[in-house]
Amino acid sequence: MTAPARTVLVTGGASGIGRAVAQAFAEGGDRVAVADVDAEAAARTAKEIGATAVTVDVTDPASVTAGVERVAELLGPIDVLVNNAGIVAGGGLLVDLDLDIFDKVVAVNLRGTFTVTRTVAAGMIEAGRKGCIVNISSIGARQPTPGLGHYEATKAAVDALTRTAALELAGHGIRVNGVAPGPVHTPMTAGLMDDPDARGAWEARIPLGRIATTDDITPMVAFLASDRAAHITGTVVQVDGGQLLT
Ligand code: NAP
Repeated sequence: MTAPARTVLVTGGASGIGRAVAQAFAEGGDRVAVADVDAEAAARTAKEIGATAVTVDVTDPASVTAGVERVAELLGPIDVLVNNAGIVAGGGLLVDLDLDIFDKVVAVNLRGTFTVTRTVAAGMIEAGRKGCIVNISSIGARQPTPGLGHYEATKAAVDALTRTAALELAGHGIRVNGVAPGPVHTPMTAGLMDDPDARGAWEARIPLGRIATTDDITPMVAFLASDRAAHITGTVVQVDGGQLLT
């Protein structure tokens, strides 16, 4: 028996992990909104994977409200939200890091996740509909790498938000979980992966010996969003080839 189609909103869905997640839901028969700040890329991706494009800048609450309303109009009330939009915006030791970079990363990764979560969850509560939220975190939230402190701090905050949201929303039948990838081949990491030394250094930290592909990440997102995870909320599951063990 196939599960009924759901309306799924994936932020940052035009590229990388978000795109793969959006594609996996679309292939499973769900109605998927690819929500991205890059309108052209969102339209292109949506066309390629059989989804609907919506332009959303997660740092702008008005854009989030308009985007969420648009998705409901086009596809029906949102059942599943994947908070995937995220940036690194550069690297630097904390004594050197430009504060503009810090502010940008906080705005997208933390404030954006907070804004989209509250907007979508408020809609679910108002409509009396159950649902679920999956936040894309990072193992960096739990294992530091010099030069990435600004990014890792936002992901640790996303993990905290995941737990609070899970607790606050449980009574409304809304589950909230996270997936924490290790390094993944995406446009975000392309520069790193093209440099054999940098790539080798990352691979050396992974017991299973390779950098993840987006297809390594999507099954956990799909599982946490499914009824098979009906009794799971407030968890953040690492998909990292064992890197957190080291
Ligand atoms: P990606 O390929 O750069 O994709 C991120 C997407 O989010 C891009 O389409 C980007 O658009 C979009 N975006 C950026 N700012 C946005 C905003 N303000 N509003 C809406 N969309 C926005 O990155 P990725 O590697 O797939 O990363 C996806 C998520 O996984 C992020 O949360 C990241 O932190 C997390 N993650 C990635 C890795 C990894 O190794 N790749 C590891 C752990 C966790 P633009 O291209 O126009 O900026």
